[in-house]
Amino acid sequence: MNYAGLVEEILKKYKEALGINDEVRVKIKKYKTKSAFINLKTKTIFINENLLELGEEVLRYLILHELIHLKLNSKYHDSEFNRTLYSYIPPEKVSELRGLIVGKMLHPSRINTMNYSTAKWCNDCRQE
Ligand SMILES: [Zn+2]
Repeated sequence: MNYAGLVEEILKKYKEALGINDEVRVKIKKYKTKSAFINLKTKTIFINENLLELGEEVLRYLILHELIHLKLNSKYHDSEFNRTLYSYIPPEKVSELRGLIVGKMLHPSRINTMNYSTAKWCNDCRQE
C-alpha cells in the first residue's frame, strides 16, 4: 500500500500544530528492532514499515512522537515531551497505541497483539 499521501498529510498537520518550519523527511523501511526514530541533524524520521498495518492512528502517533523530539531538540521523554504529546493524543490512547506497537514488534506476523509488560519505546531514544 502507498502511504506517501497519508504521511505527507499527517506531517503537514503536526508540523503546523507544533510550529515547525524545517523541511522534514520521512523514510519508511523494515527494521527488526526499531519502531521509529529521528535523526535530529538531518531532520529525517524513520518509521518501521511493519507497523503501518496497525493503521492510521499508529502512524499519526509515530510521526507526532518524532516531531516532538525535533521540536524540543531532545531525545528524552521528559515531562515537557509528555505534556506536548498528551495535548494532541490523550494518555490512555497513547498507552493503547504503544501496546499495539510493542505487540507488533514482538510478533510481527500477528496483528493487534497487546503486551504492555515489556513495553519499550523508541529504541533510539534515551530513556528517562
Ligand atoms: Zn522517542
